[in-house]
Amino acid sequence: MKLREIFDLAIEVGIANDPRGEEEVEKQLEKKRKQYDELKPDEKEFFDIETLDNPYSDTRILAGDPGMEVKGLLAGIDMETSEIVLADRLREKGETIDLVLAHHPEGKALAALADVMAMQADIWEKYGVPINIGEDLIGERMTEVRRNLMPVNHSRAVDTAKLLGFAFMNSHTPCDNLVTGFIQNYLDEKKPETLGEIVKGLKEIPEYKDAALNNAGPAIIVGDASKRPGKIVVDMTGGTEGPEAAIERLADAGVGTIVGMHFSDKLRKKAQENHLNLIVAGHISSDAIGMNLFLDKIEQNVKILTTSGLTRVRRS
Ligand SMILES: [Zn+2]
Repeated sequence: MKLREIFDLAIEVGIANDPRGEEEVEKQLEKKRKQYDELKPDEKEFFDIETLDNPYSDTRILAGDPGMEVKGLLAGIDMETSEIVLADRLREKGETIDLVLAHHPEGKALAALADVMAMQADIWEKYGVPINIGEDLIGERMTEVRRNLMPVNHSRAVDTAKLLGFAFMNSHTPCDNLVTGFIQNYLDEKKPETLGEIVKGLKEIPEYKDAALNNAGPAIIVGDASKRPGKIVVDMTGGTEGPEAAIERLADAGVGTIVGMHFSDKLRKKAQENHLNLIVAGHISSDAIGMNLFLDKIEQNVKILTTSGLTRVRRS
């Protein structure tokens, strides 16, 4: 399978499972193209032209010729210099590894992580938060995340991959879209009647079961096991954690319980104040489900090794 085909598939799967719906994603891309067309020639030089076809700023080919053939890959949640050196050691031992496939963004995908967060306003709108409020709240938080990423040395892993001759790509939001849809459907079908039943149900999923056996399983952080959940929303995509003010709006809009990957203490306090239950499904374990769902789609063509918090679970 060519590197370009693996990447295009990630984008395709991401759009097909995007909580905004394919039509809205297409509309956003159309807007970008218009923006680009209106730029002056000297402004076009610094415009990230990949954003004209790829709606996920945090998902990129970071190194390697897109036309190259990938026979084997090493995939993981965080693939930094240490994991890429590991890939080189494994290659020395005879493993076929042409591509290092990360979940979390590196390089230019990390530097542009904030851009993908705009989708959160669309997701909240689906749950009843007016778009004018959502856009205002996410805009502020995006600026904060963008500022925090400015000083980061984001090219370290990319530079390592280039020196060691590996192709390098990551798939962040497309995989997060996959896990969000998967867990939302799972809970919608299971219809848990208490928060305790949600946690119990999650622990039946292999990645969460494994996390639970390693002291990192699903947990209730606001609410208690006997309480009824009300409307359950799985919140696992959109770049990174949203603003705390969104919690209040979601509670007002009728959301009873949020199941997410992680929540800062600020968010937890806001949820408590607003009587909204919070369940941490698990960060790395949720990321692993998203990656596994993606790897299911390419495994027939590529040999897969995993590391860095990812253990292969096959579903199709
Ligand atoms: Zn993550």
